Amino acid sequence: MKKNLTVTTPLMPDLGEFSQMLKDIWESKWITNNGQFHQQLEEALCAYLKVPYVSLFTNGTLPLLTALQALRVSGEVITTPYTFVATTHSIWWNGLKPVFVDIDPSNCGMDPDRIEAAITPRTTAIMPVHCYGKPCDIVRIQQIADKYGLKVIYDAAHCFGVEVNGKSILEYGDISTLSFHATKVFNTVEGGAMVMHDAATKQRIDYLKNFGFESETEVIAPGINSKLDEMRAIYGLLNLRQVDDAIEARHRVAIHYREALRPVQGIRFFDDMPGVRHNYSYFPIFVDAEEYGMTRDELFFKLREHNIMSRRYFYPLISTFSTYRGLPSATTENLPNATRIANEVICLPMHHELSEEDVDRVLEIVVK
Ligand SMILES: *Cc1c(COP(=O)(O)O)cnc(C)c1O
Repeated sequence: MKKNLTVTTPLMPDLGEFSQMLKDIWESKWITNNGQFHQQLEEALCAYLKVPYVSLFTNGTLPLLTALQALRVSGEVITTPYTFVATTHSIWWNGLKPVFVDIDPSNCGMDPDRIEAAITPRTTAIMPVHCYGKPCDIVRIQQIADKYGLKVIYDAAHCFGVEVNGKSILEYGDISTLSFHATKVFNTVEGGAMVMHDAATKQRIDYLKNFGFESETEVIAPGINSKLDEMRAIYGLLNLRQVDDAIEARHRVAIHYREALRPVQGIRFFDDMPGVRHNYSYFPIFVDAEEYGMTRDELFFKLREHNIMSRRYFYPLISTFSTYRGLPSATTENLPNATRIANEVICLPMHHELSEEDVDRVLEIVVK
């Protein structure tokens, strides 16, 4: 049996360099609470991501929760069912009602044509997801938000380094959030961040992620604890040095997949979008069972038989989970595109360590 091909693998710093920096932390005895490396990582991320303000978090879920708190969102939040459960959970944990709208199959993001019909007098925010790092229709979403006076919080967990016409995708909306989980393009083991556009918001967020402490003797809001520690900050600083090479390696894998898959009947995939710097965070393909002659699940299990791990990401649709299926917006009739895409998608192995031979092994199964 050939070696196991994983769907992803974490970007990890050089152990020698990591140990060297650990010594600095040990000597300083400052291991968390806005330490020197936490500050350095925020600065380095601002420079790399080309954004003015970044606030680090301990994962990618807490900035979603905190963004809704910080913007005092209430009532209903329009969102997508085609995402990771953390998006919807963050709305629920704030005591808000998620309202699902369908996706546009051309980018798997929220379909702007469906947003207005979902707005009620209780709607106060839109929470779209740049799925697979592919930009949503940011211009139209903002137009709708402006027209109705809604906040926009982008779950940009997949978007590390993604740019549109030289500008960071994280610059759109009121707030964007990132995940630095081990499975993402850039990771701090567990970690995340929030990107905002002004110093006052950055200050408020920094209070909120530290229990709401403004000073030793004053708490301005019921905050949470989401402070990234110094160990993970140095892990992030070192990974940042190699993330461009990792994205370039992913790009080569994407080119290889596309060349081989283009002639295959019944398989669709995404090409690069003009003017967009992609990060190749995933390589989703969409299987039309009739044209391809095999269902998505048959292909998924066949890959597994050959020790190739792929991922049905995102399947099942969030609106079908028992927690959420009772919502009025969760019906299949309301979500035809998301339902179809969730039944067609497979994310093929995609990471910086895949060799050409690895990719050929996957293609041998998929290209019949
Ligand atoms: C990974 C991910 C999250 C959650 O991030 P964690 O760091 O795992 O908490 C949220 N939304 C999306 C779309 C994700 O892919």
